[in-house]
Amino acid sequence: MERRAFFKLVGAGAVVAAGGGLAACSSGAVPSPLAPAAPTEEEGPRVFESPDVSFSSDVDVLVVGSGIAGLSAAMAPLEAGRSVMIAEKLELLGGESYSSTGVMHVSGSALQKQAGIETTAEQAWDTRRQEFADAGITDLDFAKRLFVTAPEWVDQLVDEYGAQFENPADHVKAGASERILLPKRGLGDMESIMTPLRDGLSSKGAAFATGLRASAFVVDASGTVCGMRLRDAKTGAATDVRARAVVMATGGFASSQPLVHANVPAQERIGCYTTASMGEGQLLCAHLGGQLDDMGKAAPLTSDLPEAAAWGLFGPVLVVDALGRRFAREDDPNAAADACVVGDRGYWWTIFGKKLSSGAQARSIAQVTTKNAKRLAGPFDDVEALAGGLGIASDALKAVFDGYGEAVDAGKDDAFGRTAFLQEIEPPYYALKQLPVRYKTRGGVRTDADGRLLNAAGSAIANVYACGSVAAGSVEGLATNGAFGLIVGRAVAKALDAGDAGK
Ligand SMILES: Cc1cc2nc3c(=O)[nH]c(=O)nc-3n(C[C@H](O)[C@H](O)[C@H](O)COP(=O)(O)OP(=O)(O)OC[C@H]3O[C@@H](n4cnc5c(N)ncnc54)[C@H](O)[C@@H]3O)c2cc1C
Repeated sequence: MERRAFFKLVGAGAVVAAGGGLAACSSGAVPSPLAPAAPTEEEGPRVFESPDVSFSSDVDVLVVGSGIAGLSAAMAPLEAGRSVMIAEKLELLGGESYSSTGVMHVSGSALQKQAGIETTAEQAWDTRRQEFADAGITDLDFAKRLFVTAPEWVDQLVDEYGAQFENPADHVKAGASERILLPKRGLGDMESIMTPLRDGLSSKGAAFATGLRASAFVVDASGTVCGMRLRDAKTGAATDVRARAVVMATGGFASSQPLVHANVPAQERIGCYTTASMGEGQLLCAHLGGQLDDMGKAAPLTSDLPEAAAWGLFGPVLVVDALGRRFAREDDPNAAADACVVGDRGYWWTIFGKKLSSGAQARSIAQVTTKNAKRLAGPFDDVEALAGGLGIASDALKAVFDGYGEAVDAGKDDAFGRTAFLQEIEPPYYALKQLPVRYKTRGGVRTDADGRLLNAAGSAIANVYACGSVAAGSVEGLATNGAFGLIVGRAVAKALDAGDAGK
């Protein structure tokens, strides 16, 4: 046992959240905390001067958070023969990543090459760069690093872990972007990616600790991080884990009303889709001296039926507001939600027809509409009946369909700049009602190119790394956060090797 006087804890207050996800593998699971129930830390960041630190586990790498970034960060250290524990505060693994829509922006993966899509990440970068710049991302060098690493990440998931993706030729043939990858069963099926990843990590020796929330860093007498205190999310019992490297992969802070209020007040009155993204990693790192960047940068919004927001990437749809006005491009999953809030429109309808409902994403459409039958209107044989069903003046909706028809004929959407699926919407018509929600955040901890946590002076805080949405450098979503995890995992494995060589 370690001598108590050597350690102190640097941490944040108790936060408990719940949500759905992957069940942990039984193999490699960490025993439940040994210590008796202890009082939880008081609310708010604090340093404990005389803590009762007693390590019950000793690992090379402790990954905190089991979303796509955390699981991806575990890959390289495990493959290098290191011991890795993945701690997750929820009972189920997977985080927001597991329940996300599953649209991944990647170019140059082997899957794409096999499907005859030859564009490399370097070749696609100019377009992606512009999209990132338009979205307000400023560190475009790091964004490029993530984007060009994403195909390697996909290849590794497929080759080493058996992750299952849809053949991209299927949706490209139907007219969708060649830069999109989807899980095997299409929208909403992150299970096909994350379950094999979890099982592969487990078979390589990863220990999964669920229901344990990281509540404080443990630092030694010199102030260097040497582990983490985890608390049982139900009882508050403490488990101290000694680790040579800690990787924070705790996600964003969209679910934390206080943090959104303090940093992105323009979004505080918008409902939130997520439950687990409480910003605990940001608070823990900040209290350790880590720098937080871009916390005030607003992230885009989405639909409260998030899969439906992505339908426009895979088939012809129209979005109209309560008065029947078209108000956003339909091939951008964030555009309708963002414009709905900016224009104070309240809600919107996504109108679709036969081509979408019988196309490649039929599974998603059937699932979402069945689950939300009360929000679905249709079928309607013509625009007049559709207008009647939505309580919209038929002249207004007819004008929208006429204008859209002209754009289809011209092959050009002058009104909103939509480029994908500028095609006729064929009856029978349906419409699904949606509301805007926040679901992710932009700001987070400052890291260097290897994901090491940096302080305000730009110096690395020893032994602490961060990846995914907890970091300010995280640019988009699943693929870039997976690539971020891969980069950090490799850096950790290298640093551990260097440390061993120096002994
Ligand atoms: C509804 C929805 C749809 C989306 N659709 C897409 C999409 O189609 N394409 C795309 O690219 N992106 C999409 N995203 C965004 C994408 O899901 C995120 O960018 C990505 O999942 C973030 O991954 P992460 O690993 O950083 O965080 P997460 O997946 O959120 O994982 C963080 C994990 O850390 C755990 N954790 C937090 N605090 C602690 C603590 N103190 N101790 C222990 N564990 C902790 C959390 O419980 C969670 O499991 C979507 C997001 C949502 C919510």
